[in-house]
Order: sequence, then C-alpha cells, then structure tokens
Amino acid sequence: MIAIIGAGPAGLIAAERLAAAGFAVTVYERMASPARKFLLAGRGGLNLTHTEDLPRFVARYGAAADRLAPMIAAFPPDALRGWSAALGEETFAGTSGRVFPKSFKATPLLRAWLRRLDGAGVRFAFGRTWRGWDAAGALRFAIAEGEEIVRADAVVLALGGASWPRLGSDGGWAEILRREGVDIAPLRPSNCGIEIAWSPFVRERIAGAPLKNVALRAGAATARGECVVTEEGLEGGAVYALGDAVRRAGATLHIDFKPDLTEAVVAARLAAVPKGASWPKAVARALGFDAAVRALLAEAGFAQADTARRAALVKDAAFTVTGARPIEKAISTAGGVTWGALDDRLMLRARPGVFIAGEMIDWDAPTGGYLLQACFASGAWAAEGVRVWLSRPPA
Ligand SMILES: Cc1cc2nc3c(=O)[nH]c(=O)nc-3n(C[C@H](O)[C@H](O)[C@H](O)COP(=O)(O)OP(=O)(O)OC[C@H]3O[C@@H](n4cnc5c(N)ncnc54)[C@H](O)[C@@H]3O)c2cc1C
Repeated sequence: MIAIIGAGPAGLIAAERLAAAGFAVTVYERMASPARKFLLAGRGGLNLTHTEDLPRFVARYGAAADRLAPMIAAFPPDALRGWSAALGEETFAGTSGRVFPKSFKATPLLRAWLRRLDGAGVRFAFGRTWRGWDAAGALRFAIAEGEEIVRADAVVLALGGASWPRLGSDGGWAEILRREGVDIAPLRPSNCGIEIAWSPFVRERIAGAPLKNVALRAGAATARGECVVTEEGLEGGAVYALGDAVRRAGATLHIDFKPDLTEAVVAARLAAVPKGASWPKAVARALGFDAAVRALLAEAGFAQADTARRAALVKDAAFTVTGARPIEKAISTAGGVTWGALDDRLMLRARPGVFIAGEMIDWDAPTGGYLLQACFASGAWAAEGVRVWLSRPPA
C-alpha cells in the first residue's frame, strides 16, 4: 500500500497517478474533508496556471527553476488545462494570461476529481494527523482515540506550507523532518500583504478600496497592476510581486499613481485646474483620482506640499513598511524541504521510500497560477518516483 499524506492538490494528483498505475493507495488527511486550501483558492476564481511560454513560465520559480523545469515540462500548463477539461471544467485565459476554469470555481472540479479517485479505488482516511515514524519505520497518526500505526511500501508527503493553518497546513512537519536529519529552509510568508501604519481615516474609511493601475517599487523590485488598501497596509498581486524587497520592517514602498503619464504632464494637468478648487477636487478633476488615491496622497503629505512637489508625489509617494503580514495570512509559504535533501525523483535522501511534493518543497513563485502548477507537476513527478522506486530490482 502507498500512503499519501495530505489531501491537497499535490497529494491528490499523486494518488490519481499511482492508482492509475495499479497501486493500492490510501490518502491520509488530518481534516475531515480534502483540499480546503484549494477550495479557498476557488473563491478567487482558481487561477490554475498561466499561458506564457515555458521558458518564461519556469523562470518564475527563481532559484528553484532548474529543479522544477523537468517536472513542469513533464506536466506543463497545457496538460493541466487538459486535465481540468477532462473533469468537465474547461478553462479560459484572461487578458493577463492567467488561466481559470470557466466556472471560476474549485468546487465542481474537486467534486469530479474525487469521483474519479473513488472510481480508481483510492481510499481516504480523514482525521489522521501525521506525527512521524515509530522505531520500526511505520507511520504514526494521531487520531481521536489515540494513535494509529500504518505500514506502507512507499510514502508521499504532501503536507503543504504553513499559511492559513486553520485549513490544515500548519508546517508542523518541519520539526518532524528536522529531527530525522532532513534539511529544512525556514518557512516564511510569501505572496503576502505588507503592513503600513495608516492614519485612522484610511483604516476606517478607505480599507477595502482597490488601487488600480499603479506602479510599485521597493529597492530594485518593480511591479505594476492592482492592490487593495487594508486596515493593516496593502494586499494584492502588485504588492506580492515585489517579493522580499518590500517585506521587511523599514522598507520603503514607492507608489506611482499615474504610471502612464510623465511628471511634466501631471504637473500641467494640475496647473490647468481653476484656482480656488480644494486639492482633493483638483486631483479628482485633473487626474481622475478617487477617494482611496486621494487619501493615500494625503498620507504622503500632499496637502502640505507646494505645487511643484505635488506632481512629484503623484509619481512617487513613499510609505514606510512596518513589516510583512504574518504567515497565517499569506497566500503561500517560501522555504521548506531543501533541494539538497531530495534526489532527482523527489525522494528524501535521509528516508528512502519517502517522497515530497507540493508547497512543502523549498520553491517560491508569484501568484498567477504558478503555485498550483508546481504543486500538480511535483505531485505527478513524486508519483512517478514512487512507481520507479517500487519497481526496482531486489537488492
Ligand atoms: C487565499 C488563497 C488563494 C490562493 N489562490 C491560488 C490561485 O488562485 N492559484 C494558485 O496557483 N495558487 C493559489 N493559492 C495557493 C495554493 O492553494 C497552494 O499553493 C496549494 O494548495 C498547495 O498545495 P499542496 O497540495 O502542496 O498543499 P495544501 O493544499 O496545503 O494541502 C496539504 C494538505 O495536507 C494536510 N496536512 C498538513 N499537515 C498534516 C499532517 N500533519 N497530517 C495530515 N494531514 C496534514 C492539510 O490539512 C492539507 O489538506 C492560494 C492560496 C490561498 C491561501
């Protein structure tokens, strides 16, 4: 029997592949139902993958690109789209290249997937929290009644990262594996918001408002797109894309509220507003700024600035970051089982027969469908590793 631990996308695709190859597979999961984070991702439309060409796509994984490249090549974005379509959920690409199911939901896809797994004979054991191994090398699970001991021929650990722990993935595996001598890079929040000490006005009146078509900069990192003002600071794709450059206390975030206009054009438009208009009315009329942008300009000192400085502030309003949002609120987790701890087939060097898949591995990527694609690709790759390992000739 093969034990897959963790019923997220990485574990479930490994289960699907191994059951299709004829193995008896049981999926162990601590929660009472599978894939809770996948379902949460569905609330945002379920960005499954991206249409950009493979070299660009793979480059999104930064330092992990070389190790993930063969996995993505073996299970590329088109294959993921085909898989989804075969489960009754056709996909489409938005203007940004992001790929979503046409239904914009995860629930129908997951339902069809679970039916397929059931048909292939995959068994599920819920309410099992993996604790490690006993002295004889069997798996230990905490259950309501105490402990369950399970013997497996091979194991796929697909326990996820440490964000949104109430959905099941809490990163507790890191300590268990460290004790086994597995090298683990510290788990850090990724694709997470930042904290800025807004005034009570912004916290109470502006939080929730989007900032559309802004250009952001922190250190050498730049990003363009959308973000959302929150009570604590800012969230959203453009902020996440700045990565670590903006996620430390003391970092400066620069916002260009009019990235398509030069400072001279902004200045000319502001100068053209008839005298006597209040500054909020002037920027609304000259530049089309809504209440959220006006409030952030006020935070950056717009009201006190002279005319020349005002155009500069529209193009470069600076805010001090007080920190990153905690890992509990992050979209994903950076760090995890290091590549050095894994062989080419994702098997733990310290524990032959134990394979790792999904967000547990030390890779990181921006939002845009790269996270789920790597979870699916590494899950399928680990399954193939299990198949090869179990068919090795006896020693
Ligand atoms: C709000 C939000 C929106 C997102 N949107 C997108 C998106 O649109 N596109 C995208 O690409 N990515 C998105 N992501 C990220 C994506 O959901 C994750 O990267 C992906 O789910 C990780 O898959 P995984 O299988 O590795 O782990 P998980 O999905 O975290 O699954 C791991 C499973 O293991 C179980 N588990 C953990 N520890 C134990 C244990 N000790 N014993 C037993 N079971 C255990 C957990 O309960 C869980 O079911 C989003 C994430 C969040 C939080």
